[in-house]
Amino acid sequence: MQFEIVDHPRPRSAEEIQNILADPGFGTNFTDHTAVVDWTEQDGWHNARVEPYGPIALDPAASVLHYAQEVFEGMKAYLHNDGSIYTFRPEANAARMNKSARRMALPELDEQVFIESLEKLVTADKAWVPGGEGEALYLRPFMFATEAFLGVRSAKEVSYRVIASPAGNYFGGELKPVRIWVSRDYVRAAPGGTGVAKTGGNYAGSLVAQQQAVDKGCQQVLFLDPLHENAIEELGGMNVFLVTNDGRLLTPELTGTILEGITRSSVIQLAKDRGLVVEERRITLDEWDTGVRSGEITEAFACGTAAVITPIGELVDGEHIIASTGTGEVTQAIREELLGIQTGTVEDRHGWLHRL
Ligand code: PMP
Repeated sequence: MQFEIVDHPRPRSAEEIQNILADPGFGTNFTDHTAVVDWTEQDGWHNARVEPYGPIALDPAASVLHYAQEVFEGMKAYLHNDGSIYTFRPEANAARMNKSARRMALPELDEQVFIESLEKLVTADKAWVPGGEGEALYLRPFMFATEAFLGVRSAKEVSYRVIASPAGNYFGGELKPVRIWVSRDYVRAAPGGTGVAKTGGNYAGSLVAQQQAVDKGCQQVLFLDPLHENAIEELGGMNVFLVTNDGRLLTPELTGTILEGITRSSVIQLAKDRGLVVEERRITLDEWDTGVRSGEITEAFACGTAAVITPIGELVDGEHIIASTGTGEVTQAIREELLGIQTGTVEDRHGWLHRL
């Protein structure tokens, strides 16, 4: 499939772009272009193009607005010292988007078209990739049902798009441990549900829990497994790891209710490379609590594309606080190695980088 390039009527000037990149924030500024591919049941995927960024004309009956038939991805493009731009494991994002699409009864998109959509968009907007420490161009591929039809069935018209947003450090600057709220009132996912899919409804359902967390002075929510008492699952937007004093790395196993993080899978690989023993299994809050008290658990961290790796400080469970140890050595070392690979200062021995 060929992407047609439609030029922006008024791309922003180099100076305007520089002003935005001076303080990119997260998710508030968008580049000049968007990649688009349309799908209909009749014609399949067609009309691939890169067009000016701007509002989308959508029929008020478009089924995404009513039944949330939608999936998305999140990834980053990194500017290396030699001026080249890379993204990280895009084939993994393509596979995950297709897995989400199957769950949400949306059509799958060929991996090559997915990767080409990123290449074409980043090429058109390469002036927008920030190069400061911890900065990157955040890429947001998404697919949604555009068909104007109020019956409840999978749509026969779908749109795939990619937008891009320059991003600074997610939690703002230095590596400060985040405070986490254990959600007892709300559940994110259950077996057979949509937890494993990266679909908007999972995030809509998490917002009230996130508000509760903020009210309690926390930055993120930890969701529990609804079927196994006190078993931990993941944060609203990140996976969780614990480090032990005898060289083990613990993380909840993938049971179909957790998002299969690409950072998670990369951390597991880098940990194994360092000789750590990785245990993917059920972990309870009680194990976390007693482990921290006895000194067996020495570090806790969360990981995801946006914030990379962030140490977990206190874990607040109602009135009870499970203390943590702040930023530990293992957290720091894996974070530096992963960031180094992504930004081109550490050898990419697993072939994770893809030049855009
Ligand atoms: N869990 C959830 C619920 C998420 O939204 C994300 C972010 N995509 C993650 C985990 C981490 O996934 P990744 O490492 O692929 O960004």
